[in-house]
Amino acid sequence: MDRKMIVAGNWKLNGDRFLVQDFLTGFADTSFTKVSPILCLPSVYLATVQDANFALGAQNVSEHTSGAFTGESSVAMLKDVNAEYVIIGHSERRELYKESNQVIAKKLSAAIDAGLTPIFCVGESLETRESGAMFDFLTDQLLSAITEIGIAGIDKCIIAYEPIWAIGTGLTATPAQAQEVHSFIREFLAEYDTDIATNTTILYGGSVNAASAPELFAQQDIDGGLVGGASLKLKEFLEICQAAE
Ligand code: PGA
Repeated sequence: MDRKMIVAGNWKLNGDRFLVQDFLTGFADTSFTKVSPILCLPSVYLATVQDANFALGAQNVSEHTSGAFTGESSVAMLKDVNAEYVIIGHSERRELYKESNQVIAKKLSAAIDAGLTPIFCVGESLETRESGAMFDFLTDQLLSAITEIGIAGIDKCIIAYEPIWAIGTGLTATPAQAQEVHSFIREFLAEYDTDIATNTTILYGGSVNAASAPELFAQQDIDGGLVGGASLKLKEFLEICQAAE
């Protein structure tokens, strides 16, 4: 098994250049061996980062390569400013910006073609979970991606399971709840390719903090976290990275 442990911070619409500087300094002396830390910054700050001891990610990307798409950034632009990762399909993009499974699949394809690694987010609402439709819902999200990029494309992605009811709410899924879904995702991928299923990094996201990270990351199918709020606090984010070591 050569699954990578990853802790990715998602700053969302938060932070400023001083906080970026604090993180550059705070990470300068770290040397993680097992975990790769990633920071998904607001895109305007990506180009300000140099010599970072963490990898850079963006939070969104256009499915188009160029043209009249005001306000968008292309995969080539993200590569140009040294981003290696990009979050695609975050529930906030799905809900607030009405990104459909189809649009998300196109973004995954554009990112992979450009050599960016997508952090592909899936996850159900509380209503869907309670109605018993959770696994069908997750299957739809995964299937629409596989239809576009194939299982070979999934091999180039990191998957993040982020139950919507746990994002920014302080309500973390229990390690058992998260593990159940992670193992479901891995079994789903195994129907296509067992090696890819074994080797795909699957992150958990939703109110991960320094207290909850160790037990979550100890689960068999959880390979790290996608961290929102707690990724804005340098000390806590470092502790979360440490928990994945
Ligand atoms: P949270 O956000 O850790 O603040 O819940 C996670 C995410 O949305 O990626």
